[in-house]
Amino acid sequence: MSDTPADASQTQEQASLFPLPADKKKRAGATPLMRQYWKIKDRHPGALLLFRMGDFYETFERDAEVVADVLGITLTKRGNGAAEDIPLAGFPHHALETHLPKLVSAGYRVAVCEQLEDAKFARKIVKRDVVEVVTPGVAMRDQLLSAKHAHYLAAAVWGTTKHTQGRVGFAFVDASTGAFFVAEAAAEDFEGLLQTVGPAELLIDKRQKKQLQSIRDTSFALTPQEDWVFSYDFAYETLLRHFETHSLKGYGFHDNHGDDGPNSADALAIAAAGAALYYLGETQKGRVPHVRRLQRYDASDYIALDASTKRNLELVAAMQSGRRDGSLIGVLDHTLTPMGGRLLRAWLVRPLQSVEKIEQRLDAVDALFQSERLRRSLREELKQVGDLERLAAKVCTGRATPRDLVTLKLTLRQIPHVKQLLVDVDSETLAKVTAALTLCQDTVDRIHAALADEPPAKMDAGGTIRSGFSDELDDLRTVSKGGKTYLAELQARAAAETGITSLKIGYNKVFGYYLEVTNTHKDKVPAAWTRKQTLVNAERYITEDLKVYEEKILTAEERALALEQQLFSELRMAVAEAVEPIQRNARYLAMLDVFAGLAEAARKYDYVRPTVDESRVLDLEAARHPVVERTLPAGEAFIPNSVLLDPDGEVDIEPTRGGQVHVITGPNMAGKSVVLRQVGLAVLLAQVGSFVPAKRARIGVVDKIFTRVGASDNLAAGESTFLVEMNETANILNNATQRSLILLDEVGRGTSTFDGLSIAWAIVEHLHDHTPVAARTLFATHYHELNALADRLDGVLPFRIQVQEHDGRVIFLRTLIPGGADHSYGIEVARMAGLPEAVIARAKHVLRHLEAHDVAAEMQGPRSEAASGDGALPSVRATPEIPAPDLTAPVAYAAPDPIAAQLLDTLEALDPNRLTPIEALMKLAELKQIADG
Ligand code: ADP
Ligand code: MG
Repeated sequence: MSDTPADASQTQEQASLFPLPADKKKRAGATPLMRQYWKIKDRHPGALLLFRMGDFYETFERDAEVVADVLGITLTKRGNGAAEDIPLAGFPHHALETHLPKLVSAGYRVAVCEQLEDAKFARKIVKRDVVEVVTPGVAMRDQLLSAKHAHYLAAAVWGTTKHTQGRVGFAFVDASTGAFFVAEAAAEDFEGLLQTVGPAELLIDKRQKKQLQSIRDTSFALTPQEDWVFSYDFAYETLLRHFETHSLKGYGFHDNHGDDGPNSADALAIAAAGAALYYLGETQKGRVPHVRRLQRYDASDYIALDASTKRNLELVAAMQSGRRDGSLIGVLDHTLTPMGGRLLRAWLVRPLQSVEKIEQRLDAVDALFQSERLRRSLREELKQVGDLERLAAKVCTGRATPRDLVTLKLTLRQIPHVKQLLVDVDSETLAKVTAALTLCQDTVDRIHAALADEPPAKMDAGGTIRSGFSDELDDLRTVSKGGKTYLAELQARAAAETGITSLKIGYNKVFGYYLEVTNTHKDKVPAAWTRKQTLVNAERYITEDLKVYEEKILTAEERALALEQQLFSELRMAVAEAVEPIQRNARYLAMLDVFAGLAEAARKYDYVRPTVDESRVLDLEAARHPVVERTLPAGEAFIPNSVLLDPDGEVDIEPTRGGQVHVITGPNMAGKSVVLRQVGLAVLLAQVGSFVPAKRARIGVVDKIFTRVGASDNLAAGESTFLVEMNETANILNNATQRSLILLDEVGRGTSTFDGLSIAWAIVEHLHDHTPVAARTLFATHYHELNALADRLDGVLPFRIQVQEHDGRVIFLRTLIPGGADHSYGIEVARMAGLPEAVIARAKHVLRHLEAHDVAAEMQGPRSEAASGDGALPSVRATPEIPAPDLTAPVAYAAPDPIAAQLLDTLEALDPNRLTPIEALMKLAELKQIADG
């Protein structure tokens, strides 16, 4: 669904695919089974209904057509006793695991309808009902989830009253873990919020769809809801009922219910949270007990990263491939538990703004960075830790299997070891986290007592419950397993008592177990035995004992399984009762895992602890790009670079460094983009609480990171239009603050040279002159003309990536040095790429022609005009009038001619003013010679 525009057409279309009270006529005279089907179907409009029939899930009518299409299975017809045959498509029940994810990722909501009683016992039609509705945003099954990232359902509601106008309530919940957050923000911050959270599904009031018109990134499924779902009163009640409280004050909300009700602060937050919870409850048929906390999400705690920044910095996915390989997280993630991996990802897309909180994280990472021994032992323990967060959720929702509970036990058993390890650790953060870990000894003991060490994957194999746990179960098992032994004993005993030495025990279907007595011993048979059958030379009897035992043996296995089931659900319920400390442990273990993982990465890749403060200094010594340095071809070394931005002049340095804006020039492929990204990533990593790839780093916290990559640099992401480029640039200029970091990469490239250059020029001036947006900025450009700005604006400094020209070829040195490049080397790079010599020669010619009109010189108006702020423009002509080179003229270009090219080159090299008449004559002769070949 990722490229579906953010309107509801998809969902509406889906709804019309599944007409509500389907054709009444068609239904008349249908079988009772189809009537049951339609009844259930009607209760789940807009969802595909998977209808369990025996070992199959069946779909009918339009559903069948969709399912057959999406899954590539056969569509058949079924007579239902009614007028027409009904299209039908089904698959075996065990294929649900593979088919369900396909249907959901195709954008469908799927209602799974099960048989609620054993067909054996059903008198008429088997009782059936929907047990779960799987939607893009609500997924609990492992097959639908990625271990490495959270899976959010979100709800948004925009204010409409006098008090709430211009604001938006936004809630998001991960059904697989129970994590539940809510935020209230200014409406214009909604898109940023949405992008940071990245939900899989968004619920909105169906009347508010137009609010999404301007949203660019719509990689979520949109589910419009009835308006009442978002009403304050309904939401408020839903939340109170779920959390079993009398107000929401305990969760830190101003509910002011009754006073000014829906107008209170947090009214929108509450409405959104209520809607999300209601929807979750609907899909899970009320089983969401694992959602136990509602946390406030305050966007201002975090750095705002828009979608294009996340993409350009390749935080969680590489730009080209969209894969995790080649992204920051791909390099950085050394976590060992699934919840640690998810937490790291959440942290990476939400770096902190508070110096204090950043320092707390850095302290923890540092302690583990310093002590190799501690880090290694902690990580050894973490290796044994399972997905505690999702295990806890599964326990609460009754989905945990015996093996899940064993994993839970083993995980909890690691906690004492972890606590032991960190007992006198030299970090306040680690000490706090460690202290907060709970042993959950009761739960561990309980699971251990009840469950076998290695229970079978499927409970019906038997052997889930540990022997010795239940006498009744043990007896049943003895009976069913030891049946033979018992019978042998019974036979021996009876033989001894009666003296019938040939006594045998046998079994047949008609009489069950019997005692067989040969005719010789007939008279020794006790009176209490009942004769059942007479054979030629023997008779068969049954006894009271035998019948009782027969009953026991035959049902023992079945009863043992049922008892195991019962004991297991009792156990699961008992564990669910005590789930809160388990959920807390999950959070703290995840944190420890992230800290240890960051420390491990820092050690492995030689990162340094950054100094983070409130200044506006950005000082990176010998910084590297964390991903590029790991992916260079063998034998190529990454060249570190230093960058110092210091708009307030805090650091005492030579005048060629510091400043507010760096214009970085250099030819294509020199390494400009890499420098920009490595600076952005260093800041981001530091504010996440990670060490950074550099020799030394001082980072004055930033509030927002903006990146804009010129249109033609970003074709892969499908953003090829110049308009998009300008939209995003406008966004930067409108939203940046003095605390922001702006990375502009080749902005202005998507249009003609002079347009682009002029726009780039004006942007730099604006960022420099317009105080509210005077953010620390790196501007990479191949327009070396922009260097001229550095001479005119105090805070703008020119840099270039050093290259060496050798024999008309360019050698990339990758070093960032002060001073701008004087030309773009575009033609040299083109030659290296193998463009034909004639084209290169012609290009040089055209270039010289253009340079004769020195654009840069024309653009350098007197500084005073721009600085005076009187609105006068510098003498920059938006489109300098340069006679266009006559590219249609029949020069060497049209008919590539080496002689002409050589002539031209020779002529170009001539300076007639410096030639004596004799030299001129000699040159003429030389030219003639060339012309003659
Ligand atoms: P530009 O933006 O100037 O066109 P890039 O930043 O895209 O160039 O860099 C081009 C390539 O050069 C990168 O893909 C990388 O392989 C290599 N490169 C860039 N910077 C460095 C560096 N500091 N050390 C080593 N290789 C680098
Ligand atoms: Mg580039």
